[in-house]
Amino acid sequence: MYCSELGEKWHAARAEPSIAHLDAASAGRSSRAVIEAISLHLEKEAVRGSYVAADDEAEALQRGRRDLGSLIGHTPEELSFRDSARAGLRAILNSWTLPLSPTVWVAKNEFGPNLDEFERRDFAVRVLPSADVYGHVDVDALENMLQFEQPDFIHICHIGSGNGAVQPLREIVEVAHHASVPVVADMAQSVGHVPTVTGADVVYGTSRKWLTGPRGVGFVGVRADSLAQVEVESSESFIAGQLGLGTAVSEILDLGQQQVFRELASIGRIARERLHGIGSWEVMEPVDEPSALVTLAAPPGWGAADVAAARDKLLETGILVTAADSWRAPLLAGHSMLRVSPHLDVRREQLDELATTIRTMGY
Ligand SMILES: *Cc1c(COP(=O)(O)O)cnc(C)c1O
Repeated sequence: MYCSELGEKWHAARAEPSIAHLDAASAGRSSRAVIEAISLHLEKEAVRGSYVAADDEAEALQRGRRDLGSLIGHTPEELSFRDSARAGLRAILNSWTLPLSPTVWVAKNEFGPNLDEFERRDFAVRVLPSADVYGHVDVDALENMLQFEQPDFIHICHIGSGNGAVQPLREIVEVAHHASVPVVADMAQSVGHVPTVTGADVVYGTSRKWLTGPRGVGFVGVRADSLAQVEVESSESFIAGQLGLGTAVSEILDLGQQQVFRELASIGRIARERLHGIGSWEVMEPVDEPSALVTLAAPPGWGAADVAAARDKLLETGILVTAADSWRAPLLAGHSMLRVSPHLDVRREQLDELATTIRTMGY
């Protein structure tokens, strides 16, 4: 039995998986239509010539930009494409004229590799106070801090890679803009997953996770009225992949983005309720956090290698999840975790089987 109303439709649009795929946070399963859009275009490139084929698809490419833009609150002209979210962040930081040793404020759920990008460029990073143990930004505290000091920008992982907490990004943008501070948002885990029209000046993300587009496509959006003086130039990119991403986004819009977000939130709650209290594993989000990214901290004494072995054992029994090591969110408490990230076609039996298998591994 599917956990959501859209489950059956979502499932029918895709190839039958050979495993219980509970790993959308790494890469979602593309639909047949997405795969077809990509392969048709690759064929056309060989038949018509790549640049001619791209011209032929100008309208579809523009529609793809408009649809993606509508998900994140940007116009088509404000978008450009890269081959990953990280390449998007690099493009943003490389094209931005910032003072020497700029200051950036980040939330507790910041993605480790993003911190590396900041450190490599000699940014002074400050961690915002959290309102709770899950790392949600304390917006009131932020508002207070901004009265006394303004960073060059605030960088927020809307949802991080190490837990399912959804940051109050709209509220953060509101108080930041009140103090004329730009906000850059990492939407790699949030686009296609939760509402992402937030007013952030600059956003970036990836096609392959919750949007279930292809790997190898990332995007950057810079608002025309951005407080950050960033100009990301377009570059050579994977046109077939952009068409695939456009198809993936249009499928989500056809289903109704708000219904997709609601059902993913409800799947997250169902999964957390099911996995709560299994042996000495611990669910690391509030049960009703509105995301389908669920993390389970390993029993006390387990190290990263034990969790990696648990992930492998789950895969042997036919269940795909991620072993999430602490590098993903180094500012959060350093547990090794299993990350469970089901998409719309997850079934109750799959969560039951996951729970049963995990129970035999705990103590
Ligand atoms: C996956 C992820 C990224 C990186 O995306 P890539 O496309 O692999 O570069 C960045 N931030 C977060 C929070 C992620 O989960």
